[in-house]
Amino acid sequence: MPDWLKTGWRHVWLPYAQMQTAPLPAAVVRTLGSKIFLADGKVLVDGTASWWTACHGYNHPHIKQEVAAQLEAMPHVMFGGLAHEQAYRLATRLAGLMPPGLERVFFTDSGSVAVEVAIKIAVQSRLNKGERGRNKILAFSGGYHGDTIGTMAICDPDEGMHSLFTGLLPEHPVIALPRDAASIAAFDAFLESNAHRLAAIITEPLVQGAGGMILHEPEVLRRLRRAADRYGLSLIFDEIFTGFGRTGTMFAYQQADVAPDIITLSKALTGGTLPLAATIASAALFSDFLSDDPQHALMHGPTFMANAMGCAAANASLDLFETEPRVAQAGRIEAQLMAELAECRALPDVVDVRVKGAIGVVQLAKIADPAGLRGRFIEQGVWVKPFGNVVYLTPALTISEDELTQLTGAIRSVLGAV
Ligand SMILES: *Cc1c(COP(=O)(O)O)cnc(C)c1O
Repeated sequence: MPDWLKTGWRHVWLPYAQMQTAPLPAAVVRTLGSKIFLADGKVLVDGTASWWTACHGYNHPHIKQEVAAQLEAMPHVMFGGLAHEQAYRLATRLAGLMPPGLERVFFTDSGSVAVEVAIKIAVQSRLNKGERGRNKILAFSGGYHGDTIGTMAICDPDEGMHSLFTGLLPEHPVIALPRDAASIAAFDAFLESNAHRLAAIITEPLVQGAGGMILHEPEVLRRLRRAADRYGLSLIFDEIFTGFGRTGTMFAYQQADVAPDIITLSKALTGGTLPLAATIASAALFSDFLSDDPQHALMHGPTFMANAMGCAAANASLDLFETEPRVAQAGRIEAQLMAELAECRALPDVVDVRVKGAIGVVQLAKIADPAGLRGRFIEQGVWVKPFGNVVYLTPALTISEDELTQLTGAIRSVLGAV
């Protein structure tokens, strides 16, 4: 074990971990492509793309080169009153990838904060128009939108620990996604009596990620759009997980042919290189903030807003989407995941196997010991990190066929041996 791990272990606090029982994390010294090199000499094939960020694999030479050049010229300047080319060019390019009308980009430094900004935009646009009392956001069970206090409140009530933190969290309605006759009726009835309190509807389009990798049909998104139009609500698509090719198209909204009013992006935005996020709003919402009244301005501004190296990494990542067949690679991964995970259905405790784009999910009845399972995957030479009751793969879109076979083979052998 490296000295820095032994000493530092007494001082770090890990994410989502019960520190009394958490096993020591694996010490990493280097990454490359879809490989993670451990301090003890072991090499793991990465099945997670580091929480879905490293869509081009680790250390892509083009991103490295652009970030290094930006570091040399200017790592960061404040975004209030000063401008730099990387951010302005990135905003222009992101707007070009959005549905018509979504053209205003607000940069932040994490996905949760991008969602906080989306909530602020939706609610303050009402206040700016003199509409009071429309400050609730309709969210859906199984959803995940971040870990800050504001975003916990619009997560699935269990995921967001709503009962534990009662009194701390703002209260927003969280109901079932309208996907079958009963939930559609409940959704319609809810809106009929509560729409006047709402500013917006938020969902992750097509795949609810951290809430359990739960899929829904594009028709659900069209239904949300129709409801938002009918009741005059803003529709927010949180594409922080689904964006940048993950579901088989550049963005998930494209598969439903539905344009929301706000889209949030982060995770793969910089190709897994640096923290950066964006909230992209419609021209109509933006215009609600134009006024002679200074109080009508959007009151938000992170210190590291539009960090120049982060924006350089994001521009380099978009270059790669333009010059390399990333979205087609997601399609190839989808076909391979379907073929190679199918036989997991027959394994003990497996209740579902599902694949969408470059997302492969094996759902178990229950995972009693996720840390132990993770250890067995490391023994098999792969980095797979189960959560809740799912074992999932979200590899880099550049992963080779052989590497992906190693991942699916490890899942079959580890779950088969349980
Ligand atoms: C990860 C995630 C977030 C939160 O992003 P952070 O950068 O971790 O704050 C929000 N929404 C979705 C859909 C996510 O997957």
